Amino acid sequence: MITTTLPSLTIVSPCYNEEPMLPASAPILQNIMTHLIRDHQIAENSKILFVDDGSQDNTWQLICDLQQKDPLFTGLRFSRNYGQEAALMAGMQTAHRHADLVITIDADLQDDPTLIPAMVAQAQRGFDIVYGVRNDRSTDSWFKRTTANGFYWTMGKLGVNLVPNHSDFRLLTKRVITALMQCHESKPFLRGIIPQLGFPSTRLYYKRQPRQAGVSKYPLNKMLRFALDGILSFSIAPIRAVLYAGTVICGTALLMLIWILVQHLRGAVITGWSSIMASLWFLGGFQLIAISIIGEYVGRTFTEVKHRPRYIVQTDTYSATFHVSTPA
Ligand code: UDP
Ligand code: MG
Repeated sequence: MITTTLPSLTIVSPCYNEEPMLPASAPILQNIMTHLIRDHQIAENSKILFVDDGSQDNTWQLICDLQQKDPLFTGLRFSRNYGQEAALMAGMQTAHRHADLVITIDADLQDDPTLIPAMVAQAQRGFDIVYGVRNDRSTDSWFKRTTANGFYWTMGKLGVNLVPNHSDFRLLTKRVITALMQCHESKPFLRGIIPQLGFPSTRLYYKRQPRQAGVSKYPLNKMLRFALDGILSFSIAPIRAVLYAGTVICGTALLMLIWILVQHLRGAVITGWSSIMASLWFLGGFQLIAISIIGEYVGRTFTEVKHRPRYIVQTDTYSATFHVSTPA
């Protein structure tokens, strides 16, 4: 049969309070998948897997309704909100038992879903990773563009190999996901980890669209946290920076001490309440920054050694579908 030779594709889409968006994005994905199946590009047991990341609105109900109308749709529901990366990991981990190819895409379809057939074609040409890369971010705000550029620049300087302007729209083959599952950090920074895995990869370019409905789930504080997580989980450069700064400060203090000594021997009286206060406050502040940078790493080690689950799945209709539809 054709289905045994064609690759099985699962589209994984994380959803957090996407009630306003799902009714629009689900039919678009459904249409693309239906065409791919009809054109014998992918196997008939290919699926769309929405991962409900503990939404408080009707997202899960919508996913269940979609599945009832078309078994192409399936869902995974978290017990609470764990974050987008956890949702992506859960989707990939669940999907790769049955799927040969997994494509991850945001539920708001800001990333161009019409690229999906081209991604599948690239996989058939032998690429294990196909990165969706934005070549036009004009729909993002000036602030988002500037901070994103700053982030890529910083990561580059830290020696972390990221694909610029790539977020979480990508295709991975089964063997890449198998390798990814061997990375056990509790908060995996996927954009950094995946390029590190190796495997043949290629890029496809597209224009990022504005969000059609609902709101961004990344307010400024969450965005900064995400960027900081990326930096701290990939590099100890901040600790080194503190070491260098501390060395410079100590060197300056030593020079000052020598100067004071010389002035003293010459019989000069050195006054300067303000300079003492300024150095005191400067050193106090610097020490606090240094301690908190080290504290961030200690905190991360603490979180890692606990080995708590990355996420807890409350309901999984994806695996259940496979048990029913796949003959033993
Ligand atoms: N998302 C999620 N959990 C969260 C935050 C976001 O699963 O805690 C999902 C969200 O539903 C969307 C994707 O991650 O499908 C990207 O989020 P969003 O579109 O808000 O980010 P932006 O495009 O504004 O960076
Ligand atoms: Mg978005």
